[in-house]
Amino acid sequence: MITPTSPQQASRQARCYEKALEILPEMRKGGLYQCFDNHDGSYLIVKQAYTNRVSDNSNYVVNLLTETCTCPDWQNHRDFCKHLIGVEIMLAAIDYDEGLEKMLSDFDSAECSTGCDAHYWIDR
Ligand SMILES: [Zn+2]
Repeated sequence: MITPTSPQQASRQARCYEKALEILPEMRKGGLYQCFDNHDGSYLIVKQAYTNRVSDNSNYVVNLLTETCTCPDWQNHRDFCKHLIGVEIMLAAIDYDEGLEKMLSDFDSAECSTGCDAHYWIDR
């Protein structure tokens, strides 16, 4: 992720984060925004829109290797956009969920050796 070099860029990055957090649930579960892993370091973002009740989708490609996006916002500023930030947060969140799930299953399987009801963390 690019580090902002001006207050203007920093505040734009903050707005991109806010927007990314808004669309994140839909990107993860599928909704108005959908996200598809291209398995080459890039992700296809489909934004479903309807104009006069006719489907009018926009497709953008986020490339994590080059940290680029094909959307107008990224093309205009060439630093970041809500799609790029959204994909980065989404992947970090998936790692977090998997890590959390594993920790909780480890937690359940470990019991205190003194026979009390307390569970404790074990290193595996
Ligand atoms: Zn974008």
